Amino acid sequence: MTRSDERRAPHHVVVIGSGFGGLFTTKALARDDVRVTVVASTGHHLFQPLLYQVATGVLSEGEVAPATREVLRRQRNARVLLGTVTDVDLASRTVTSVHPAGENHLHYDSLVVAAGAGQSYFGRDEFARYAPGMKSIDDALELRGRIFGAFELAELAEDPDERAALLTFVVVGAGPTGVEMAGQIAELAHRSLRDDFRRIDPRSARIVLLDAAPTLLGAFSDKLSGAARRQLERLGIEVQLGQKVVGVDADGVDLEDADGRTSRIASRTKVWAAGVAASPLGRRLAEQSGATVDRAGRVEVLPDCTLPGHPEVFVIGDMMSLDRLPGVAQVAMQSGHHAADQIRRRLQGRETGQPFRFHDKGSMATVSRFHAVASVGKVEVSGFIAWLMWLGVHLVYLIGFKNRITTLLHWLVSFVGSGRSERTATLQQVRARGALLEQEERAAAAVAPPAQEPVTAKEE
Ligand SMILES: Cc1cc2nc3c(=O)[nH]c(=O)nc-3n(C[C@H](O)[C@H](O)[C@H](O)COP(=O)(O)OP(=O)(O)OC[C@H]3O[C@@H](n4cnc5c(N)ncnc54)[C@H](O)[C@@H]3O)c2cc1C
Repeated sequence: MTRSDERRAPHHVVVIGSGFGGLFTTKALARDDVRVTVVASTGHHLFQPLLYQVATGVLSEGEVAPATREVLRRQRNARVLLGTVTDVDLASRTVTSVHPAGENHLHYDSLVVAAGAGQSYFGRDEFARYAPGMKSIDDALELRGRIFGAFELAELAEDPDERAALLTFVVVGAGPTGVEMAGQIAELAHRSLRDDFRRIDPRSARIVLLDAAPTLLGAFSDKLSGAARRQLERLGIEVQLGQKVVGVDADGVDLEDADGRTSRIASRTKVWAAGVAASPLGRRLAEQSGATVDRAGRVEVLPDCTLPGHPEVFVIGDMMSLDRLPGVAQVAMQSGHHAADQIRRRLQGRETGQPFRFHDKGSMATVSRFHAVASVGKVEVSGFIAWLMWLGVHLVYLIGFKNRITTLLHWLVSFVGSGRSERTATLQQVRARGALLEQEERAAAAVAPPAQEPVTAKEE
């Protein structure tokens, strides 16, 4: 943005987050007489629905996460800043963020908060060390290293029990992400890696999909959920429902069923695809505005997506709790458009406060190559037609022409052929989480008060 643009457009919109909500808000303001600053903790826009393909070697991280700066390079009224927002002061209209070189403060006239959601381990954060979630590029690359690494170690293992644990993959959470992840691990084991090893047969891999709920793909009808389950079982995946995970360690998972019976699965590779928790910024906003947050930490906004008493602050996407709308990309994109529209109306002196109306364009989940389930209005389809629909929708929403072309090529390699173009994994990807956690634990121990010496009563 040039200095003259800044003079022409004094209204400053700060957008927190470069995910679906943040990016769609920013793009919707491209022609408006505003300055937009996007501040996000990563330099990329992440297409989360395809993360599982990064984890299983189908796609590269660049294909699902283009640089936000590049996506917005032609939008002259927008600038992009790296930074993790640590505080929002509603009274002084200031956003504070931290970045590797220091701290930044931004004053806003309008604020759009789209910081999304992270993984929830339902109060058992210690599971994260052994069962990475699926929320970021870091997660996907770590999982890629763990999944391909497990086959490598199994080839070396002398002990049959050890080999079996290395060839057992447990996916926790039977929503769309868990189903997609389990399906891709099965395809990897049964097709892509089939001829690559000499001592082990990758086809003997055991893939277990677990959920505490009694159904899989709970957001879909019984018919589609049943179709997905049959396809998973055809792929050799064990679906275990009604099983609550009560323990996770390096060597396996502990389960408890509805009757309190416990069991254990020995497994070296676990994937956590259950539970989300909205960004902690939501609680900070709620404290200051009197809004409430739901169990997942989402802010209960007014019908126009604003905070009570703050018509200049919008909370959208996965951070917003409104009309029981699901945490999906369509809600984030459409609520971003709505926020942009409300800002425009205010600047034009038109009436504001129109409620956000969500247009449900349907939902879909892919189970394996050539097989998906899709529900669009009253139409429900499963199998190849649904898979083609899934393919089309994902290509349309993938950001960037270049990414669409390379993604299509990689899909041809994996789905028509049996290869995986992105099998590279580094030791750093696999080990970094553990090293960072240890560093944090050491730092926490260093600031903790010294342990009290037991006090023994002295006789006077
Ligand atoms: C594995 C997976 C698969 C999914 N599959 C589907 C699917 O098939 N279909 C579907 O509709 N939806 C799917 N979803 C859900 C969908 O991706 C989300 O609903 C959507 O991304 C929400 O958009 P958002 O903008 O609210 O948040 P996000 O897209 O999560 O973006 C949040 C942004 O905020 C930034 N951020 C976070 N905290 C801070 C901070 N403190 N300071 C600054 N920046 C911050 C992040 O870096 C990111 O840029 C999936 C999600 C996951 C994780």
